Amino acid sequence: VQKSTKSIPFYLALVHYPVVNRNGAVIASAITNLDLHDLARLACTYRIPQCFIVTPLKDQQVLAARLIAHWCEGAGRESHPDRWQALQHLRIVPEVGVAKREIQAVQGRDPEVWATSAGAGRAVLTHRAARRQLEASRALLAGPKLMLLGTAWGLAPGLIEAADQVLEAIQPDSLYNHLSVRCAAAILVDRLLGPERLG
Ligand code: SAM
Repeated sequence: VQKSTKSIPFYLALVHYPVVNRNGAVIASAITNLDLHDLARLACTYRIPQCFIVTPLKDQQVLAARLIAHWCEGAGRESHPDRWQALQHLRIVPEVGVAKREIQAVQGRDPEVWATSAGAGRAVLTHRAARRQLEASRALLAGPKLMLLGTAWGLAPGLIEAADQVLEAIQPDSLYNHLSVRCAAAILVDRLLGPERLG
């Protein structure tokens, strides 16, 4: 398989605010070290230019920056160069709007925002249709895309409503549907960017 080095104008955002807690209240969730590593490696593997880490909390921004710096400078970088290569894909921003502006500055066009959720909701963008839209983006026949991933109990309703599209949920044939954001992100990215599975 010809290995492409060309990245695709498709971005991820791991959103820590606004998200909801178990009671449906809008909160700002704490950053999880594991999320940063897994999403960075996912972005690197699928040639996604950047995964934005969204949090308005200053102490969380400092924590995330320290985590990333540990692996991108000094001892961490020497001992695990492949980790450094992945973590380079992370970008800490205070809100989704900043991520959108940064993408616009690089790509020259505003990104279309795709929200994700385990729950059904308004008319969704199927995985198949999303793949087609990404193929158009890759050929620069359409603008960049930004997929929002939630933490805690999911993206806040206001953020989902403000999105341009809601991506079709991963619907396992089971009653249990509580994927971690790391697993959900990996499944969605492979469905959207991985080899097309027929049927
Ligand atoms: N009940 C929450 C919801 O409906 O989004 C699940 C939150 S889960 C811990 C965190 C994130 O993982 C979600 O915000 C969403 O981005 C993603 N996620 C989890 N399950 C998913 C599914 N079945 N389909 C699509 N995304 C999912």
